[in-house]
Amino acid sequence: RAKAARRNAYRFFEPDMSVQVKTRMTLDVALRHALRRNEFALHFQPRINLQTLEISGMEALLRWKHPEFGTVPPAEFIGIAEESGLIETIGMWALEEACMQGAALMRRLGRPLRISVNVSARQLQAPDFADRVSAALRAGAMDAQLLELELTESTLIEDLDRSASLLKELKALGVAIAVDDFGTGYSNLAYLRRFPLDVLKLDRSFLVQQDEGISNVAFIKAFVDMAHALGLAVVAEGVESPEVLEFLCRTACDEGQGYLFAEPMPVDAVEAYLSAWLAGALPAPAALL
Ligand code: C2E
Ligand code: MG
Ligand code: MG
Ligand code: MG
Repeated sequence: RAKAARRNAYRFFEPDMSVQVKTRMTLDVALRHALRRNEFALHFQPRINLQTLEISGMEALLRWKHPEFGTVPPAEFIGIAEESGLIETIGMWALEEACMQGAALMRRLGRPLRISVNVSARQLQAPDFADRVSAALRAGAMDAQLLELELTESTLIEDLDRSASLLKELKALGVAIAVDDFGTGYSNLAYLRRFPLDVLKLDRSFLVQQDEGISNVAFIKAFVDMAHALGLAVVAEGVESPEVLEFLCRTACDEGQGYLFAEPMPVDAVEAYLSAWLAGALPAPAALL
């Protein structure tokens, strides 16, 4: 899909321009109109409590459907939106929608779920970011305790003082803070201790399977233990096989997320999925073990 999108994008440019420059320019221009043209949607991916094997929450993931390019994956447009600054408005849209749709879904299902939303470094630079989060919660009639913001380690350490004061403000609102993609950057838990964090999300590159089993077994165990010692819950990303699930349960990893359970889905599909599960019509993940 991404390839097709790029192929379409090439046509509009002179052949001597580099392919990457052309693609970026085309996407950048298209991104400027995407919000107004209603081209964004949020998908939700269930997160599973590995102790109880119940659905504990969902991560909201941005999707961009362009009329010509098709579905452009976040990996292709988030970086461009960050560079141009568009991520401020796009990211705020995602946060507001996640609160609104998440809270509405919980009301219909009659069950609390934690909704996590990704936030880029650039968004945090807005001096009134905490106020914006507060406004999004109010607009969606969403319980602050059920919102989790996912930040990466590099975002947090980019400006230590700013991060520390902002996280304090966010914690005062009642929202939870997760470190996303842990293991891809500095992976320095001692350093992260200074921040009021709640959740550590292990990057899925940690769970890459090798012939003899799961790689990085010792690392994962050590990280889970250290995180617990620091009072953090651990979520594993990219759980794709029963073997990995079993391993995570053994290492006392708290939650898991991945294709083994469910892919990110549009809100109506995730509602159907959750309803079916609550009604006992879906195989509980316990059956996967
Ligand atoms: P992320 O926050 O680390 O999200 C997890 C990514 O892993 C998602 O990719 C998800 O679809 C994918 N994934 C989930 N389970 C599996 C699995 O079992 N196997 C594999 N191979 N992949 C799995 P996605 O949706 O393409 O998003 C990519 C990244 O884009 C996200 O990584 C996040 O950093 C960024 N992003 C997405 N939505 C937003 C947003 O609303 N705001 C911001 N600032 N960034 C976003
Ligand atoms: Mg994330
Ligand atoms: Mg991640
Ligand atoms: Mg990420």
